[in-house]
Amino acid sequence: MLGFILIIAIVLIKYKPTYAVSLSGEAVGYVEDKSEFEEAVDKQVMQYTGKNVDSVSLNVEPSYEFKLVNRTENTNEEEIIIALQEETKITYKYYEVALNDTKKTYVDTQEDAENLVSQVKTELGDTKAKIDIKEIKTENLEEVKTQNVDIAKANLMPEVEEIVEENSLPQINGIKLAVTPVSGKITSRYGVSSRIRSSNHTGLDIACSSGTPIKVVSSGTVTFASYKGSYGNLVKVEHGNGVETWYAHCSKIYAKVGQKVSAGDVISAVGSTGNSTGPHLHLEIRLNGNTVNPQKYLYN
Ligand SMILES: [Zn+2]
Repeated sequence: MLGFILIIAIVLIKYKPTYAVSLSGEAVGYVEDKSEFEEAVDKQVMQYTGKNVDSVSLNVEPSYEFKLVNRTENTNEEEIIIALQEETKITYKYYEVALNDTKKTYVDTQEDAENLVSQVKTELGDTKAKIDIKEIKTENLEEVKTQNVDIAKANLMPEVEEIVEENSLPQINGIKLAVTPVSGKITSRYGVSSRIRSSNHTGLDIACSSGTPIKVVSSGTVTFASYKGSYGNLVKVEHGNGVETWYAHCSKIYAKVGQKVSAGDVISAVGSTGNSTGPHLHLEIRLNGNTVNPQKYLYN
């Protein structure tokens, strides 16, 4: 018994107990206290908390083997930790803020994203714009192109302004009237009676020189494009939701029946055809077949 203890004592004078560490089967050195070392790995490798870091994992798991090594041999914990730091896989995380699914900006944190959304919502007022926050993860730091909230907001602003502007357009039964067909002097308002007409005025007259291009007020489909009695050359466009616009007394008609038009497209030219005393556009807006006062929406 005493002999055994003596042998142990002699061995421990010459040798020290250590753990040999290898990464993917490759020996990288020795550590003296395994649990202390594992704690250091956790702190210095796994708990890395740089900008945009979401998670850290090791590409290789270190393996340990108990060994008695010569006391003159040095352990190299710090070197092994550096080796492990080079073997980590880091996932980065950032946030996308998208406006109506198109315009997108990127910020670092959820908090930044929420801050940005609340600022943009304030600018948008009660418009029904769609704003989404999406968390994005990547292992490629190069992909993380985030901006601070102020710059991200400045990038979103042109789109915000466009949405606000569009939302302030006049609307009839959900159809936005984006374009004024011609500019000119109002010569006869809706609803007035006149010697030259049998009924009250069904539209709005805007005087301008013959040949002036007439633009369609909203997108739609041309449903009529020819001469029609007192209207002269007439173009009718259907916009959906029971909304129709009529453009009368044209000198020329460019649009064709069945043609799809976008707001602002030129469909005809100002003239004085039909029951007219001089070149002007007679504009009618109809909802479910009934005329409405165009000045509720345009030229007001
Ligand atoms: Zn008229």
